[in-house]
Amino acid sequence: MEREVAPKLAFGALKDPTTPRVRFAPSPTGSLHVGGARTALYNLLFARHTGGTFLLRIEDTDVERSREELTAQILSAMEWLGLEFDEGPFYQSRRYDLYRAAAERLLAEGKAYRAFETPVELETERKKAEAAGRAYRYSGAARAIPPEESDRRARAGERHVVRLRMPSETIVVEDLIRGRVEFPAEALDDFVLVRSDGHPLYHFSVCVDDTEMRITHVIRGDDHLANTPKHVALFRALGAPIPRFAHLGMILGTDRKKLSKRHGAAAVEEWRDAGILPEALFNFLALLGWAPGGDREILTRAEMEREFSLEKVGASPSVFDPEKLLWMNAQYVAKMPADELLARSTPHAAKGLPPREVALAAIELHRPRVRTTIEMGRALSSYAEDPADYDPDGWKKHVRPETPRQLETLARSLEALPDWTAASTEEALRKTAEGEGVSAGKLIHPTRLALTGTTVGAPLFDVVALLGKETALRRLRRFVEAAKAQTPA
Ligand code: GLU
Repeated sequence: MEREVAPKLAFGALKDPTTPRVRFAPSPTGSLHVGGARTALYNLLFARHTGGTFLLRIEDTDVERSREELTAQILSAMEWLGLEFDEGPFYQSRRYDLYRAAAERLLAEGKAYRAFETPVELETERKKAEAAGRAYRYSGAARAIPPEESDRRARAGERHVVRLRMPSETIVVEDLIRGRVEFPAEALDDFVLVRSDGHPLYHFSVCVDDTEMRITHVIRGDDHLANTPKHVALFRALGAPIPRFAHLGMILGTDRKKLSKRHGAAAVEEWRDAGILPEALFNFLALLGWAPGGDREILTRAEMEREFSLEKVGASPSVFDPEKLLWMNAQYVAKMPADELLARSTPHAAKGLPPREVALAAIELHRPRVRTTIEMGRALSSYAEDPADYDPDGWKKHVRPETPRQLETLARSLEALPDWTAASTEEALRKTAEGEGVSAGKLIHPTRLALTGTTVGAPLFDVVALLGKETALRRLRRFVEAAKAQTPA
């Protein structure tokens, strides 16, 4: 089978061989979850901080559950978020020759052995263990089969799996985040490396690849901590250097339960579609476990790369609070150059955009009140298209029998204005209110409703100025007609 060639950088070609090599290894069985994105991001920051190399490996050996379109989705979500890798993507499904060769070698060296028990036999053993209240472990019976007999039976086509000969000693992992973790030998059995159909199993392909890709640090979610002793035993059997491990704390929802669909958007692309800026999500995810020191929360990418260290990553779980993400997004919305923010919001301006100068001024006017590019897109469209309807609560509250007449008077005095500014239109409204013997508020609220369809938003007279005379008068008069039609005589 053809070996993979790294499209961006040949292994280590341009880098010092002593610098770290890390990888993100998603299984394409779902879209990129925020937890996976955080794992990728910590690998990336670690690589950038240390001058190391960040690889992407697609773990697609689970043929029933892996889907190509999910790989494409993961790649596009990574690109959107700015998780650029230096090498890869490497596809495990194209590396079977490597796993086969490694299994042959372990068998030849006696570090692994064939086991010929049938699934039914194993099931019987499992049931017996359960009935006796013991945790099931494979008995290791096939360890005793002499190599010649094993070879002969395999050649004769007898079905078998390949199992690792686990050492009978405690395995100690010095985790960079969790410290020393001990795994007593009794907890581990001779696990399967290769299935009877020749398919390599997860632990095996991971370790063969980490070895072949010369991975120095394995940074991943702590759901993999329990797998680590198996991996250590495998690296030893492969005669490979054992990478350092760093297991990241879980990500929880605000109810402190493991983050899932129940908590709303859990996939990166859902946040993208909700109008979150990739820079903001990157910053937010970076702080889910890493404390850069001080109470800084907004960090540039360069600062994160400069300051990131695994020592400052905590072992305890982090809470994913969507409100905090929206707050952080608003910080980015507030600071982004107007033309950039316009470009990012344009896809969300479903009902069109006003002319560019108006759009840029609208960006400045609305950014203090807007948290997402969806909201900004909606604000921008409100200058391009007259309101399709009026907020019903606002209507109930602010439209009185005298409203159409008062707004008609207002429209006339606005029409007579020689210049159209926030100040001049405000003055016209205040004078109209005075003439009508009502407070300015009695006109302000229905005017806002008439012009924007809503009762809240940016300072009204700035909106009026930006809409321009023609549009503002047209909207006011349309509203007067609507109000007349619904006002009892
Ligand atoms: N493919 C594994 C997963 O999606 C990651 C394996 C690893 O990082 O060692 O969880």
